[in-house]
Amino acid sequence: MRFKEIPGHEKTKSHLINEVKKNRVSHAQMFIGPSGVGKLPLAMAFSQFLLCENPKRGDSCGECQSCKQAAGFNHPDIHYVFPIVKSAKDKVSISDDRKKEWIEKIQKDPFFDLHGWLHHLDELGKNPQIGVDESKSINQKLALKAYSNKYKIMIIWLPELMNNQAANKLLKLLEEPPEKTLFLLVSDQQDKLLPTIISRTQFLKVNALDTETIEKYLVKHNRIEADVAHSIAGLSQGNLVEAIQFAQGNKEAHVLFELFVRLMRTAYAANALDLISISEELAMLDRETQRSFLKYGMHIFRESIILNYLKGDLINLRNEERSFLDKFARFINNKNIYELMDEFNTAHYQIGRNANAKILFTDLTIKLTKLVKKGV
Ligand SMILES: [Zn+2]
Repeated sequence: MRFKEIPGHEKTKSHLINEVKKNRVSHAQMFIGPSGVGKLPLAMAFSQFLLCENPKRGDSCGECQSCKQAAGFNHPDIHYVFPIVKSAKDKVSISDDRKKEWIEKIQKDPFFDLHGWLHHLDELGKNPQIGVDESKSINQKLALKAYSNKYKIMIIWLPELMNNQAANKLLKLLEEPPEKTLFLLVSDQQDKLLPTIISRTQFLKVNALDTETIEKYLVKHNRIEADVAHSIAGLSQGNLVEAIQFAQGNKEAHVLFELFVRLMRTAYAANALDLISISEELAMLDRETQRSFLKYGMHIFRESIILNYLKGDLINLRNEERSFLDKFARFINNKNIYELMDEFNTAHYQIGRNANAKILFTDLTIKLTKLVKKGV
């Protein structure tokens, strides 16, 4: 990762670059600040810069062997420690046991938080930690000579999740650091760290991002309209990770909604050519989106029933959905709801079992023309 790939944080970046220029790189640094602002990417970019064979004025070159290794997560002098969910069954006790997942996650999107990491591991709600086994692994890695003749770098993400034993072992290392070793700690919660660890590190405060930086990032990377990006940036309060999630969710929900409305209108009008064309469009989506779409359809049917019969509060609807349902819900009633749910549910199941999407959606669309009419 290069500094220029990280939005904002110009002051922090120049501070880090100056440390290197003045040859005053502290052996233990703590990147501290709110979650979701890009502290881990900053630590990664700093490591790459430090080890780069041909650093430019304010960034690593991105082209030398060292930069390539750093970007490919196979640099022999850059090590990562991060919280994992221990599991005897899956043989997971240290970060290295989840190295593959870690690389996957960062390469997909380097801006994530603990929630995103657990979600990626499919271990939401579990108890992640950095345990004492990790200390042994850290010691082994630091016992090796630096390959690059510069530094060995140990990036520790969320040291506040170290248990006491692990934290005490880390403290010893910080007190008597092995030669040419650099610890970069990246923490969201200063108050959960041992004060003795804090006192052994140099603090680097990383602030929330400003609205404009987030807005620009969303427009460029998430391809959303400037006015939507502006309001999302405002809502996210400087948290880039939240802003990205919001932008993705917003985009996907809108796409599903738009497709669903068109499918229902086409089914109602029952024009053969339009029916073929929308079936083809649905068949072209990737399987995950097809499954989301079918689930989304069931959600809208359910909400229609609630609106028709229970007169309940439709808290699960966005504005565009609510105004659509004001007109559409009356077509969904006890004359067709069971069959509609059944058809969508069966299609959802079959897509999961690799059914032929074109046949499946053509079939579903034709059935829908009858089912929608039944409700009239
Ligand atoms: Zn380089």
